[in-house]
Amino acid sequence: MNNRIKKATTHIVQNEGLLFEESRTGRIGYAIPKLDVPEQADLLDKKFVRDDGLEGMPELSEVDVIRHFTRLSTWNYGVDTGMYPLGSCTMKYNPRINEKLARLEGIANLHPLTPDAYAQGAIEIIRHLEEALAQITGLAAVTLQPAAGAQGELTGIMMIRACLTARGNPRKKVLIPDSAHGTNPASAIICGYTVETVPSTNEGVTDLAALRAMMNEDVAALMLTNPNTLGKFEENIIEVCRIMHEGGGLVYMDGANMNALVGVARPGDFGIDVMHMNLHKTFSTPHGGGGPGAGPVAVTAELEPYLPFPRVERGADNKLFFNFDRPQSVGRLRAFHGNFGVLVRALSYILTHGDTGLREATETAVLNANYIAHHLQDTYEIAYPGALMHEVVFSDKYQLKHGIKNVDIAKRLIDYGFYPPTMSFPLIVHGALMVEPTETESREELDLFIDAMRSINQEAAEDADLLKQAPHTTKVGRLDEVGAARKPILRWKPDPKADSAGSKR
Ligand SMILES: *Cc1c(COP(=O)(O)O)cnc(C)c1O
Repeated sequence: MNNRIKKATTHIVQNEGLLFEESRTGRIGYAIPKLDVPEQADLLDKKFVRDDGLEGMPELSEVDVIRHFTRLSTWNYGVDTGMYPLGSCTMKYNPRINEKLARLEGIANLHPLTPDAYAQGAIEIIRHLEEALAQITGLAAVTLQPAAGAQGELTGIMMIRACLTARGNPRKKVLIPDSAHGTNPASAIICGYTVETVPSTNEGVTDLAALRAMMNEDVAALMLTNPNTLGKFEENIIEVCRIMHEGGGLVYMDGANMNALVGVARPGDFGIDVMHMNLHKTFSTPHGGGGPGAGPVAVTAELEPYLPFPRVERGADNKLFFNFDRPQSVGRLRAFHGNFGVLVRALSYILTHGDTGLREATETAVLNANYIAHHLQDTYEIAYPGALMHEVVFSDKYQLKHGIKNVDIAKRLIDYGFYPPTMSFPLIVHGALMVEPTETESREELDLFIDAMRSINQEAAEDADLLKQAPHTTKVGRLDEVGAARKPILRWKPDPKADSAGSKR
């Protein structure tokens, strides 16, 4: 048995230890000072006081609570646990220096409504990050407001509509390649455009002939991911931009895959007009389960007037301030100034690496993906072989003859101590397994992953059921993921039948 499996098996914790079930009347985990005011002080009108008081709250000691949450943390998997090759999502390590800086008291406790004059340092952080991202992308200006890549796309398409409207015609359609992320068509449609799909060539890049044939005066923009979600650099990108611009359209770049370009190539030089980046991917800020992210948008000088307001500017007194007087702006996309703590972390990442460090990270990310592709190409089909950037899309084609699908391979990887790759995306690859190791992983960890993938291929031939039942080493097995998304249970409720001693019901 592989060492990784042994290790994972010993980590299974049997005890559920639910907080509420462990509650015992009168058990406390706190000490508060003796009351030094009259006890009956009626501070609140009775009608505002819940008559159930604290009923239903668990009563526990401090160690009960610590053990509960520590135990829960061992049932989860994160990039601090091991390799997290979730393609397209760039799950890289979150350096602790970012956390330290984001927690500095003057940064963490600054009120978002602090007058500009007293928040010069924080505004400087915003200005500095905008400038760094403008340099990295080769574009003229950046907004940090959007809270995610998807919101960045929305912001970008709103600006494209505003720009084309100012030119005289907002146009009707947005072209999107068949390998695109689902948020691309969603953003275009929310902005009132219809979507047409551009096919990919057999090499996995945008089909130029098809693009030329589709371009006409109804087309507002092309939304292109580069490198695309097949891990391919769109080598005709300059020609793609020329076709769009000659036809009077604009080019939006989905920059989710910037981890393959930072410090090496600048989208502004390709001819891109608008793009977003995902700070929680490329710039090492935590993804957090649906928690704060950031999707800054960079634009050319022509689109700058349409950026969301307020904009950071420097006044005649040399002080920074937020300018709200932006008549052509598409408006405000988010309260205050974006997810500020995330912005601090991203700037910390950029400054601690510097230009050569960022370039090295990019080169290592590309090298790591190609290393995995090279060592697994005989074991797993690579849907679009040839030069790759930062990720590799395998398929389950060779394993299907044993009845093994991508999901079985992905779930079995958990038993080997790895988070599963992205599955069934991009949609044009049947049974896709999209692996993005990032620069985080050492050669030793990559070799363990390659070994695990090879063992799983062998298991597919010898013991297909083992894979179909996987994972075997986790607290729970295969989950109803659709059910969890559609009918989420977000709150613990007491089980009326359970008779847990002492717990107040
Ligand atoms: C992650 C991703 C997005 C969406 O970004 P969020 O920050 O998750 O909203 C869009 N396109 C691609 C290619 C992505 O990988």
